[in-house]
Order: sequence, then structure tokens, then C-alpha cells
Amino acid sequence: MSLHGAYDPDNIFAKILRGEVPSVKVWEDDDVLAFMDVFPQSEGHVLVVSKTSQARNLLEIEPEALTKLTAAVQRTARAVEKALKPDGLSLMQFNGEAGGQTVFHLHFHIIPRWADRQMKGHGHAPMADAEQLQALAARIAAELD
Ligand code: 5GP
Repeated sequence: MSLHGAYDPDNIFAKILRGEVPSVKVWEDDDVLAFMDVFPQSEGHVLVVSKTSQARNLLEIEPEALTKLTAAVQRTARAVEKALKPDGLSLMQFNGEAGGQTVFHLHFHIIPRWADRQMKGHGHAPMADAEQLQALAARIAAELD
């Protein structure tokens, strides 16, 4: 999937946004959704997507939607930090297949990092237990400002 082309309305995040595929939500409003990555690279790995834009990548998103999305990333990252007390946070965002992207609905990864723990590789993490994800999402949501 190149950097240019048509948005696929049947990508997995579009299905999550339409409620056709389940997800563990952290929070949402009319513009954005933050939900747990089901293959987390570390404990508390959250994804943040726009609900209004059909941008496949950063190059395509409308500036107003990007402003709301990045504000949501910061709000979510602050809550992750308060809830899980990581030593650091890695934000990741991939564009195009050659850029490492696997789901072609623009999203930001928020990945908590601990100095004494190895982060799993992108695309190499096992599926998480749904109950554990629910518990993490509740802890993060409780710390939202
Ligand atoms: P990308 O490689 O496009 O930057 O990231 C896609 C992310 O979506 C990956 O981290 C992957 O684990 C996650 N992912 C793939 N399928 C699903 C799914 O069905 N549900 C959730 N919550 N995350 C998914």
C-alpha cells in the first residue's frame, strides 16, 4: 500500500469505528477514539484515531482534524503517564507499507516505556488478554483531565 491511493472503508479501524469489530475503548468524543492496541508492544499501548477523517496517513489529513487528533494524543499520553507511571513514552506513527504501516487509517501509537523492560517489535507482539486490556483502559481513563 503506497502513500497515495483510495481509503479502504473496510480497513480494521474503520470497522472498529462503525462498531462492526469490538475494541477496548479508553475514551472517545465526536472527533477521536482512543483504544487499546490488541497486539501491544508494551503494557498500556494505546492507539488514537480520527473519527471524522478518512486520511490513510499523515500526508492526507485535513489540518483541523490533525489538530484535534494530536490534542487527543497528548491528552491520552498524559493519562497513560499518570496511570502507569512509565519511565518514558514512545509515540509512533507510520506512513505507507514501506514506512511500516499495516492499517491504512491514520493513527498514532502511544507506547509506555520502562527502563528495565524491552519493548516488543512492531508487528511482533502477541495478542493481549481482553480482560487485562479492559483493566488497563479503565486505569488510563480514570486519569483523563
Ligand atoms: P500500524 O502498523 O499501521 O502502524 O499499526 C497498526 C496497529 O494496529 C498495530 O499496532 C496492531 O497491533 C494494531 N491492530 C491490528 N489489528 C487490530 C485490531 O483488530 N484491534 C486493535 N485494537 N488493534 C489492532
